[in-house]
Amino acid sequence: MNAFPWHAEQWQQLNTIRSRWPHALLLAGQQGIGKVAFARHLAASLLCEQIEPDHQPCGRCESCHWLANGNHPDFRELTLLDDEDSDADEGKSKKAPTQINIKQVRELTDFVNVTSHRQGSRITLLHPAEAMNAAAANALLKTLEEPPSGALFILVTHQPQRLLPTIRSRCRVFNLPTPQPAEAAAWLTGQGVAEADQVLAQAGYAPLLALDLADPALQADRKALTAALADPFRLDPLQMADTWQKTDMLRMVDWLQKWHYDLLSCQLSGIIRYHPERRQDIERLARPADPLRLNEFGKQLVDARRLAHHPLNPKLVLEQLFFAYTDTLKKQ
Ligand SMILES: [Zn+2]
Repeated sequence: MNAFPWHAEQWQQLNTIRSRWPHALLLAGQQGIGKVAFARHLAASLLCEQIEPDHQPCGRCESCHWLANGNHPDFRELTLLDDEDSDADEGKSKKAPTQINIKQVRELTDFVNVTSHRQGSRITLLHPAEAMNAAAANALLKTLEEPPSGALFILVTHQPQRLLPTIRSRCRVFNLPTPQPAEAAAWLTGQGVAEADQVLAQAGYAPLLALDLADPALQADRKALTAALADPFRLDPLQMADTWQKTDMLRMVDWLQKWHYDLLSCQLSGIIRYHPERRQDIERLARPADPLRLNEFGKQLVDARRLAHHPLNPKLVLEQLFFAYTDTLKKQ
């Protein structure tokens, strides 16, 4: 069984290159489609000692058991650390970690250079690869340039353009596609999600993001926010900022960006990507809106997103954004 049914074809494609497996594989694709699960399944398959047809890991051998228990001696997973574990001078913030640092990559060196415990490969899974800071990326590059025998790397990213070109060029890039909406919606329904089509659209058609977003509390928040945004002439920025200041800032900015995207997209092409249930409102607002002002608001949202990990004063940031929004749509 593959991690997710929509990547069966890609699994087959990778199976055809087993005999000339690359030292480093870069799995790229949209966020929230199951790339990391695919990568873990791939690692299990490469390490399994009783591989089954279609190169599926058996789930019963010692190697599979170790992996399932998170203590396989020939497998390392490198990802964002909680703040208390990260470099003091690199992780100044108390907020969610945003970088993979050089200390983490250096700790890999011992692992990739020792001989495998099981006479097989030693696999490093690194995600999200774009989160490596410059020092970490350069340290990794040294290893990728002269990979020790038996050391395999699987990097996962949804922003390959943010990786050092020198790292990208050392990897075999393999794209994992976003599933077709119908297939993703069927899967979501199977997971017990009501209104799967709608939640899927909100998540930009990424099924795992949609599954997170289907949480009833989040759905209620989102509904309240979009209802307010749909009525900008009665929206009170101060009150809105007060109401939403406790909500995760990145999520708020993300929702505002999606709303802005739909206004712009509707104006340019009539296409509404994220809020099909609000088509009438978006059309009504987009039609008379000034394209320059809309663009300007988009830039403000990009700036806000950049700072969303470290908002000094969330209420103030939100006040500015809601004022900017109402200004953007103000009648001329
Ligand atoms: Zn196995």
